Amino acid sequence: MTPVIPTIRLNNGVEIPQLGFGVFQVPDAETTAAVGAALEAGYRSIDTAAVYGNETGVGRALAGSGLARGDLFVTTKLWNPDQGYDATLRAFDTSAAKLGIDYVDLYLIHWPTPARDLYRESWKAIERLVADGRIRAAGVSNFQPAHLDRLIAGSDLVPAVNQVELHPGLQQGELRAAHARLGIATEAWSPLAQGAVLKDEALTTIAARHGRSPAQVVLRWHLQLGNVVIPKSVTPARIRENLDVFDFALADDEMTAIAGLDRDLRTGPHPDTLN
Ligand code: NDP
Repeated sequence: MTPVIPTIRLNNGVEIPQLGFGVFQVPDAETTAAVGAALEAGYRSIDTAAVYGNETGVGRALAGSGLARGDLFVTTKLWNPDQGYDATLRAFDTSAAKLGIDYVDLYLIHWPTPARDLYRESWKAIERLVADGRIRAAGVSNFQPAHLDRLIAGSDLVPAVNQVELHPGLQQGELRAAHARLGIATEAWSPLAQGAVLKDEALTTIAARHGRSPAQVVLRWHLQLGNVVIPKSVTPARIRENLDVFDFALADDEMTAIAGLDRDLRTGPHPDTLN
């Protein structure tokens, strides 16, 4: 049976599926099959980025799915060298054309790249794309609290989402508090820490108790915290497994045990220094 995926209401009223499908590091030629398998399994939200080089493959899967555009939620991201007002407008058009869609559901500034200091200009272009109806929800990725405050100080458009590295090894307490203060939804990238936490004893113990996999326990933990999650897999059985997380719940003591795994474990770059 295809699961019903809950949605989160963003600060502009747009609803985002709480669980979606990520395609980082999936070669374009393999992306169509992976996204096709995900859509077949019941995912409706797909997370790609210009830099992943697979927007064309995602677009082919969307077109081939037979699903109505309004039933799909497509996220893509502005790559760092394309920041700046005019460059952002051009990069957006290129992404939409590759995806074969007229509008993007969620468009994110991929990294703040603070030393280049162009994210506020890029955001002005994104404001225009929102006004033109090309973007339903505008957001950012890898923004630290100071970057969020600076962006918001210069704009009436508060990001709907901040997509950040977040998993049991890097729980991002300070950022999540900033998001709650500002009305920004937290979206977790590398929600499984690319597999690095799946052998943690607390997780394997909880998984055995529920007759679930450690990955399912981690995804359930995210959902119960209120995070949006976008696990990636090219393995059909795992694609289905990662969606099968809506018919069990973690108890408070299990949530607390997972909270104890927080240890500043980064699988990706630090946003303050990536430029
Ligand atoms: P994930 O945390 O989703 O982990 C993916 C890895 O875990 C793959 O090796 C996959 O293997 C494996 N895996 C998936 N499901 C299972 C399972 N049930 N059991 C065991 N292993 C499993 O990592 P990602 O880095 O891909 O993050 C997810 C998405 O987040 C990306 O695809 C991308 O869309 C986004 N992202 C955004 C970033 C940003 O800067 N905004 C940065 C990084 C990611 P296999 O595929 O072989 O099955």
